[in-house]
Amino acid sequence: MSKQKILIIGAGIAGLRAGQVLAQDSFAVTIVDKGRGVGGRMATRRFADTKADHGAQYFSVKSAIFQEFIDDAVQKQVVKSWKVTDRTHLRYVCPDGMNALPKFMAQGLDVKLTEKIVRIAHGIAFAESGEQYDFDQLIISAPIPQVLQLFEDSDILLEEEEKNILNSIQYDPCWAVMAKLKYSDSTITGGRILENSPVSWIVDNAEKGLTEHPTLTIHASVDYSQSHLEENAEKVASELIASVSDMVNVEQIDTYQIHRWRYALASKRASGTFLQLKNYPIYIGGDAFGIGNVEGAFLSGQAIAQAIC
Ligand SMILES: Cc1cc2nc3c(=O)[nH]c(=O)nc-3n(C[C@H](O)[C@H](O)[C@H](O)COP(=O)(O)OP(=O)(O)OC[C@H]3O[C@@H](n4cnc5c(N)ncnc54)[C@H](O)[C@@H]3O)c2cc1C
Repeated sequence: MSKQKILIIGAGIAGLRAGQVLAQDSFAVTIVDKGRGVGGRMATRRFADTKADHGAQYFSVKSAIFQEFIDDAVQKQVVKSWKVTDRTHLRYVCPDGMNALPKFMAQGLDVKLTEKIVRIAHGIAFAESGEQYDFDQLIISAPIPQVLQLFEDSDILLEEEEKNILNSIQYDPCWAVMAKLKYSDSTITGGRILENSPVSWIVDNAEKGLTEHPTLTIHASVDYSQSHLEENAEKVASELIASVSDMVNVEQIDTYQIHRWRYALASKRASGTFLQLKNYPIYIGGDAFGIGNVEGAFLSGQAIAQAIC
């Protein structure tokens, strides 16, 4: 008997976890992602001979199953434990950059990059490139507004309850600045969560182990990101850099880049770990379900795979 074909849209943590589990079982798994690399919001950017994490900065581990997985990644030196300044709770980071964990998970999986799925019909997913991927079961782990757009473009008709669940999910945006410094500055030690400021987070990626050059990641607060979402990126970068002038001298900045995350953190999530559509062989997962972070995405992918197995 031929293997059941599973197509996964999204090579973030959720899609990769589902792919890992299903590929170990008797399924033919293909993962497609519109990005140039795996990882989605576990993102690390290379620029000007340095590196910076601009999506997820660290993660925590609460469940036994994720702990077991992370313990293995720690042993293989993909992940290390880390503490945020002034906080006691143990966190984890990837010393080579946060996208090292998804890269580790993607090993041995059939992942097609720069493939954006634009339509689904009758067991086939159509990519913008013209490629077609047929499937018996489809897993989608993209942010929910993008899933809803894909369904609309595909004439997929949802049940009323499914619509209500998906429409209730919301994300906070985040502007992220990555700034390479000319010299290091001892005022920025560890990673700092800031309150009552346009900036909510600042860290030197050199301290996380990513690079030898002092390179900051500066995340704007939810309020700032929401109210400046459509503003000019250069203006936003200048304002964010200015708002940390007590910690970073503008003269100290060699070069910088900025990235806008329209869907950074799932602030309103659905209960459970995924949604299985009633009238289609489609599972929707990711951090929009459950606890809404790296671990939540992992648990969602795990749960979908177990439901299919
Ligand atoms: C700025 C920022 C800071 C964060 N900080 C933290 C943190 O400190 N700790 C923490 O635990 N979490 C943090 N997060 C959240 C964490 O990154 C996410 O919860 C988690 O990575 C989500 O994984 P996912 O697999 O659900 O989705 P994603 O990582 O978004 O993966 C979805 C994938 O789907 C792909 N895709 C979408 N549409 C299509 C399409 N049509 N065709 C093909 N591919 C498609 C995308 O390219 C993407 O790779 C942060 C996120 C951001 C952006």
